[in-house]
Amino acid sequence: MIEQPALHLGPWQVLDILVVAAILYQLYRLTRGTAAIRIFLGVLAVYLVYQIVDALQMRMLAEILGQFIGVGVIALLIVFQQELRQFLLLIGNRQMLSGMPTWLQRLLGRSPASESGDHGWEALSEGLEECRKRGLGALVVLSRNADPRTVATDMRDVDARLTPAMVVALFEKASPLHDGAACISRGRIEWAGGILPVTGRIDLPAQYGTRHRAALGISEQTDAIALVLSEESGSYSIARGGRLTSRIEPAKLVDRIAEAMAAV
Ligand code: ATP
Ligand code: MG
Repeated sequence: MIEQPALHLGPWQVLDILVVAAILYQLYRLTRGTAAIRIFLGVLAVYLVYQIVDALQMRMLAEILGQFIGVGVIALLIVFQQELRQFLLLIGNRQMLSGMPTWLQRLLGRSPASESGDHGWEALSEGLEECRKRGLGALVVLSRNADPRTVATDMRDVDARLTPAMVVALFEKASPLHDGAACISRGRIEWAGGILPVTGRIDLPAQYGTRHRAALGISEQTDAIALVLSEESGSYSIARGGRLTSRIEPAKLVDRIAEAMAAV
C-alpha cells in the first residue's frame, strides 16, 4: 500500500467514483425497507473497516477481513439474489431499451411504449369498477418487458379479449379463477388464478394483506405493474418497481394505469 503514488484524481477516477456511488445508491434503493438493507449496511461497514485497516497496514486484521470479504461476495450473491435480478432487469429493460430508437426496440422484440399505449385500460377500469360495486377484490398484473410467468405459479391460461364483463367474470367469487392474480399482456387477458411472489418488506402498514404484498412482490421481481382492488376497503392501488401508490381515485384509474405503463 505504501508504494502507491499519492492520490491521483483524473477524469477516469472521478467517473469510477460516480459509477460506484450510483451502483451503491441503486442497491440501497432496491433493498430499502427490506431485511436485506441491514445486511447491505453491515457489509458496507465491514468493507470500510477493511479499507482503513489495510491502509494502516494492520496486516493480521486486514488478512482476516480480506478472507471474510472474499467469501462474503459469494454469500452476498446468494442473499441478494432477488435484488440482483431486479437490478439487472432494471438495467436491461428500462434505461437501455427505452432509450433506443423505435425500430431497434421492435427488432429486439419489444413494442415501444407509445405503441402499447392505453390498450384496453378503459375496459379494465370499467370492469374493476363493477367489481368494486359488487364488493369484490381483484389483483391484475400488467406485463411489460419481462414475462411474469417466470416468477408466478399456478396460473391458468385464459387468452381472452379484455372486456369489462370478462374482468368481472374473472374476479366474481363463484369463478374458479377468482383466487389469485390475473395477467394482461398486450391487450389480452393471458392467464388468471396465478400465485405471485410476496414481498419481503417488513415496513408495510397492517391494512396491506397478502394481496397487496403479492402486488409489490411481482413489481419488485419484474418490470410489470400490479393493480389491486381491495376487497376490504374498495380502494385501488398500483404497484410499480417495488413501490405502492394507494387510494387512487376511481375516476383517475385509467390515467394512472397509462402513466405507470408509459413510465420508464
Ligand atoms: P384486501 O384489501 O382485498 O383484503 P389484502 O391485501 O388485505 O387485500 P388478503 O385479504 O390477504 O389481502 O387477500 C387475499 C386474497 O388475495 C386471496 O384470496 C387471493 O385471491 C389474493 N392473494 C393472496 N396472496 C396472493 C398471491 N401470493 N398471489 C396472488 N394472489 C394472492
Ligand atoms: Mg384483507
